[in-house]
Amino acid sequence: MKINGYPKCEPDECFSSWIYRASMKQQLPRPIHVEEVMECFDYTQDYDFSVIGLAKVAARYSFDVNQLIWYFRPESMWILPCRERQVYCVECLKSDIAAGGLPCWRKSWCYLYAPICPVHRIVLTRMDQLDFKFDKAWSAFSNSDEWSRHVESCRNLQSPLVYNSIGSKAIRFALKAQDLIRRAHKEERVEIYGAQIKFDSVDVLNLCAFVFNHVLYPRRPGVYYGMGRYREYKMPLSRFPDQDSALRAGCEDCDVFARVFALLLIGLILGVSPSQSLLDFTDSFVIPFTMQDVDIKGIGELFHALWIKDFQILARYQLCDSSEAFLRHIRLFLAGLSEHVRSFSYENIMKVRFAEG
Ligand SMILES: [Zn+2]
Repeated sequence: MKINGYPKCEPDECFSSWIYRASMKQQLPRPIHVEEVMECFDYTQDYDFSVIGLAKVAARYSFDVNQLIWYFRPESMWILPCRERQVYCVECLKSDIAAGGLPCWRKSWCYLYAPICPVHRIVLTRMDQLDFKFDKAWSAFSNSDEWSRHVESCRNLQSPLVYNSIGSKAIRFALKAQDLIRRAHKEERVEIYGAQIKFDSVDVLNLCAFVFNHVLYPRRPGVYYGMGRYREYKMPLSRFPDQDSALRAGCEDCDVFARVFALLLIGLILGVSPSQSLLDFTDSFVIPFTMQDVDIKGIGELFHALWIKDFQILARYQLCDSSEAFLRHIRLFLAGLSEHVRSFSYENIMKVRFAEG
């Protein structure tokens, strides 16, 4: 997008990033001050995706509001909250600088399902900064040398002085699932490689949401928690007032390890990755011993840890309305779920559907 006299927005750039770059420029048709832009946003302070905020900025600077909203719109509503948009690809930032500009913050780093840079095929790095700032791309770049030595997201939570990284094989498989979810957000139907048939994107996304809800469920006092949270077992327990807020918070956390792990499970359940033991990934993750060497049905069985009443309702809502072809495709996973609640087996869902006509 090009607005006369202002810096060109880069493809995939966030609104706040563009505003920061524009504010650094002299001789604009009307100078941009970050503080003035911030006044256009309400207390929720989503400086990237708030349509109302963008409309106010457009009015103040005489920009074309539709152009602004269209260009900076998200590709998915599975967006991490502002405070959690702290993960970035250091190689992308370096390439911005190499091209002679200021670094840009990408929209594609802001989605729950995207902990990997698809361009450089590396896991995103977490910045050591909790406050949201318009200049965070610059801040991340200028600190990247220091942080690459001690990448916070790679800290081994059991041994705080040890750092892990996620192996290239795990990244390759997780990226396949990430790409499938990205396509499902863009197209009505998506093809799962190997299945040779296209499925409704809604069905695919419901299954993915179900897995993210379970795998990312935070650790709380006295209850089971999601499989993606095992590496946090020495961390203080989180305290959420109820199950709903915990469920939401689990999917609002930018931790790349937990999200890559969720993607690996999605890849196995959907047959995007070749079915193989999760043992392949033990170098990268802290995997509960119950998960080592399990097959797809076994993954379904392990979901029982959170198989409380609310999750059953969630599962019914997120899975059971899917098309027959899709349910057949994930029937091994359903068979695992139905070890605990029989009504979730593929055969049972079909029987009920047939009886209801
Ligand atoms: Zn990158």
